[in-house]
Amino acid sequence: MPQEAELTGTVIRKNDPGYQEARRNWNPYTNAYPLVFVFAHRNEDVANAVKWARENDVPIRMRSGRHALAKDFNQTDGGIVIDTGLMDGVILHRSQETAIVQAGIRVGKLVRMLAQEGFLAPFGDSSTVGIGGISTGGGITAIQRTAGVISDNILSATIVDAKGDSLHVSAHENSDLFWAIRGGGGGNFGIITSYKFKIRPAPRRVGIFQIIWPWAQVETVVDAWQRWAPSADTRLGTILEAYSKTNGLLRSQGIFLGSKAELRKVLEPFVATGTPITTRVDEVTLLEAIDFWAPNEPPFDNQNSVWSSAWEEDLLPEEALKAIHDFLEKAKGTESNFFFLNSGGAMNQIPPNATAFFWRNTKYYLEWDASWTNAADAQRNIQLVDQTRARLQPYITGSYVNVPDLKIRNYGEEYYGSNFTRLRKVKAKYDPDNVFCFAQSL
Ligand SMILES: Cc1cc2nc3c(=O)[nH]c(=O)nc-3n(C[C@H](O)[C@H](O)[C@H](O)COP(=O)(O)OP(=O)(O)OC[C@H]3O[C@@H](n4cnc5c(N)ncnc54)[C@H](O)[C@@H]3O)c2cc1C
Repeated sequence: MPQEAELTGTVIRKNDPGYQEARRNWNPYTNAYPLVFVFAHRNEDVANAVKWARENDVPIRMRSGRHALAKDFNQTDGGIVIDTGLMDGVILHRSQETAIVQAGIRVGKLVRMLAQEGFLAPFGDSSTVGIGGISTGGGITAIQRTAGVISDNILSATIVDAKGDSLHVSAHENSDLFWAIRGGGGGNFGIITSYKFKIRPAPRRVGIFQIIWPWAQVETVVDAWQRWAPSADTRLGTILEAYSKTNGLLRSQGIFLGSKAELRKVLEPFVATGTPITTRVDEVTLLEAIDFWAPNEPPFDNQNSVWSSAWEEDLLPEEALKAIHDFLEKAKGTESNFFFLNSGGAMNQIPPNATAFFWRNTKYYLEWDASWTNAADAQRNIQLVDQTRARLQPYITGSYVNVPDLKIRNYGEEYYGSNFTRLRKVKAKYDPDNVFCFAQSL
């Protein structure tokens, strides 16, 4: 008789001390009551957990940085959570310009470590996001117009599959799965335990800018940003953040892989917009730029939030700008906001079907979220995010799998466009029993 699988690693069950801490996610709205958490130290712990879950018929969720934005993605009531958060080693191969990175490392720790060693790698706007989750969904970043999305930089990966076997995936081994994990979204194919990334020599100094306007100018500023940012010099990654009226912050910032003097020129058409309260244009080291873009922050947020996301292939017309304004007036939570990031450059030069990350022909990305602390406000905020999507729908396209929205019914097409069918085939091959099944999985 085959031996029964046993859980190894750090195992935390419902009545153990540490259970409440283990349940915590960045967005408290996504917390559930799993049966058991396995904090893996090695690939074998992950493999044992998969085998144990299958023998005991317990639903599996996997987790790295705990930043899942929607319910049921990284935790489920009565399930097992296989967490790679303690596996955060990095092996740097300087001469090959590659790094082998365990899935549990947080983005901020990784990019700061690489910057100190003289290398540049794509980073998002939050230091505490896990490499495990962000990379497989794509990973949009300040330097995507130079380096592509994070998944464009994956050279190979190790993944524990539905049988509990470790697979190596690359252009030469299990190449269909290698295609799928670059944009196919976390949780679908198995637990990725490490990635090999391409990295780049870091520039000595980079340009940064920040402009803040009075909140009342939100429609003017969004319109000016969308007309300027997508066609600006591809060395510039820029975001625009419009917070709720209650909060009052309306801000754009950017990182420019070039000098301050060049950045000033790039900014010329945009700085004339509205009447800014402050304008900063500077030249700093890469480490300072990372601190500016993705400051160190606590790993957990204390506000609940719901999200939706989309891509823009054209320009938002006046009706859409009005919908954004209305959302920001009605969403009372101080963290509620609309967020925009420009696409283009290297990100769009890769064909949409070259990897599972589909959205290559866009001008920019946008997302909106409503936050609350009082449970009584939950439904109102969920509805507001949904109604805003309905108002914007005629003008937007698709959605981003890393910022999922459980209200989207045809999520396959919305997250993956025409890559959806191929992704389903890869899923059927590597997970024929649909062991890795969750809200909106493949
Ligand atoms: C504050 C904040 C800022 C963000 N900023 C950005 C940004 O700048 N750019 C961007 O692209 N996204 C951003 N995101 C979204 C982020 O990419 C997703 O939330 C991502 O899924 C988080 O990954 P994680 O490992 O931290 O989360 P987790 O909650 O651990 O996991 C999220 C998803 O990935 C899966 N997953 C996790 N680990 C693994 C693994 N090892 N193998 C396979 N699947 C796994 C999980 O099952 C789950 O479905 C942000 C999110 C937050 C909360």
